Amino acid sequence: MQNLTVLVLEDEPFQRLVTVTALEKVLPGPILQAADGEEAIAVLDACDAVDIVLCDLKMAGMDGLAFLRHASSSGKVGAVVLCSELDPLLRQATVAMIRCLGLTFLGDLGKPFKLDGFSLLVKRYREYCNSVPRLLSPAELPTLSDLQRGLDNGEFEAYYQPKVTLEGQLLAGAEVLARWTHPQWGVLSPAHFLPVMEEHNLVDRMFWQLFEQGLALQQRLATQGRMINLAFNLHAAQLACAELAERIAVLLKRFQVPAGSVMFEITEVGVVSAPASSLENLVRLRMLGCGLAMDDFGAGYSSLDRLSELPFSQIKLDRTFTRKMQSQPKCAAIISCTVALARALGVSLVIEGVETTEQQLRLIELGGTLAQGFLFARPMPEAHFIAFCSVQAGWDR
Ligand code: C2E
Ligand code: CA
Ligand code: CA
Repeated sequence: MQNLTVLVLEDEPFQRLVTVTALEKVLPGPILQAADGEEAIAVLDACDAVDIVLCDLKMAGMDGLAFLRHASSSGKVGAVVLCSELDPLLRQATVAMIRCLGLTFLGDLGKPFKLDGFSLLVKRYREYCNSVPRLLSPAELPTLSDLQRGLDNGEFEAYYQPKVTLEGQLLAGAEVLARWTHPQWGVLSPAHFLPVMEEHNLVDRMFWQLFEQGLALQQRLATQGRMINLAFNLHAAQLACAELAERIAVLLKRFQVPAGSVMFEITEVGVVSAPASSLENLVRLRMLGCGLAMDDFGAGYSSLDRLSELPFSQIKLDRTFTRKMQSQPKCAAIISCTVALARALGVSLVIEGVETTEQQLRLIELGGTLAQGFLFARPMPEAHFIAFCSVQAGWDR
């Protein structure tokens, strides 16, 4: 088994001894320990990195909360497990804080320490490490000239992730997601290139390439009598362009795609910060007959105001609610309220991030009808997507 470095932050000496002894029996790597936040920082300073910090919260001296803040800026902590007897609501808020700090939260063991529970979390940690794509080092992040070359060479490709009905998993359309087939690094997801693109105002150039790829697919399928609705992500900055809606109308006409088969997804944060002039574009797109989705609903702020003002036809509930639904009853309440809200506003609701059958069943109970998530399908290149549709929509029959 691969070595893991674990740091136990626990002020109570007996608890600490029991925990460290139990871990030493089952884990091959070094088990470090600290009695308060200051000691834990010293331990971190003295080592290269710690895979998992097992963290108590309340203690004399520097407490667990202050230590976590430090741990986040050190960049040396792989993941955090809480081991505390604090009130569950406060622990929940601490979990939110941990994520906000950019740390990976593995689980909450409560107290006293349970080796079984911890072993499960270690398994989760190993799976997590294997599933996270290798992060590019700053030296490997794309440069402006690399991005421009990629755009010039048509290396950006539309991937398609189906939107399906929760019951029956019938195909209801697909979201177009950008992928960059980099000659050196292979297929890169947006996290690797969107920030640099945003910095250099290149998102718009990529959008038009993906939009044409999507429309070309719709046109090709239409000639075979097959219709598919596609949703494209629009960056808030693009809304400032006065010709946006007109350019879209021209392309729809050129590819002979009905506006009703095209939707644009705009993140809630983007919409909240969009100047009034950009909102004209949203109205124009709706006037054309295109759909408009408020993306990542619930992840931003003051969205209800915009939702009441703007002509959205779909809400996409951010996947954090699906992820937390089972462990946090409040999230289930938020989901069923969003279901009611969408119904009352007369818009469709897509619930994002469905990864398990349990989540699917619970979401049906909560009134959800449409969803997107790895359980149904991951984003896929065009040829795979056509094959997927053929099976799902019975095109072969
Ligand atoms: P998004 O618009 O919220 O897209 C959904 C993201 O969630 C996609 O990540 C998708 O792969 C991921 N996802 C889908 N189902 C699941 C699931 O069950 N579990 C989990 N954990 N994730 C799931 P992706 O493709 O990496 O894109 C990330 C973000 O990058 C997108 O979030 C969107 O904001 C942005 N993006 C992607 N393509 C474009 C684009 O062409 N233009 C613009 N402006 N933004 C884009
Ligand atoms: Ca989206
Ligand atoms: Ca989303």
